[in-house]
Amino acid sequence: MAVSKPQRIVMHWTAGEYEISDSDYEKYHEVVEGDGTRRLCRRRPEANNDVNDGDYAAHVRAKNTGSIGLAMCCMKGAKERPFHKGKFPMTEVQLGAFINMVAEYAETYDIAVDRRHVLSHEEVDVTLKVPQDKWDIMWLPHMAKPGNVVEVGDFLRERIEAARAKKFDRSDSFLASLNEDDLVERIVARIKEELA
Ligand SMILES: [Zn+2]
Repeated sequence: MAVSKPQRIVMHWTAGEYEISDSDYEKYHEVVEGDGTRRLCRRRPEANNDVNDGDYAAHVRAKNTGSIGLAMCCMKGAKERPFHKGKFPMTEVQLGAFINMVAEYAETYDIAVDRRHVLSHEEVDVTLKVPQDKWDIMWLPHMAKPGNVVEVGDFLRERIEAARAKKFDRSDSFLASLNEDDLVERIVARIKEELA
């Protein structure tokens, strides 16, 4: 079934090298390379509103409709158990750029930064109960070994939400300029005017 707008963001690592590959270009909507460079991929998120035409980014199993796919190019050759981060571990600068990028997409598409709407590929399995058979974003540069996938997701969401609040401050300057006393004074003045 098609949707009218993107519903969620699925976060990935590519299990590739630090630069965008041809398959990354087909699979995701945007990626961040190892040095923090962002690369747009072939399709815009709207392509996934309807997957029946076959023209969409296929980045998850059985959950591509309405799913924006954002990824970090890294983790080729990494092993989960025993943990071995390989030659292309996620970098701090890459993660920082990724957090800002996800915040931007969440803002643009009005997607809530919560467990059901901004989640890692592996959380699609755990939280949405759609089996993925993947290990994906279970480790971050400050961690000694992979952690609980939802805890890692929560760590990311907290930072994404903070980045979103910082970047897209919604405080309304008109409302902020009014305090209650001003408002009462104005109303009283208005009533006096009416009665005069
Ligand atoms: Zn993935």
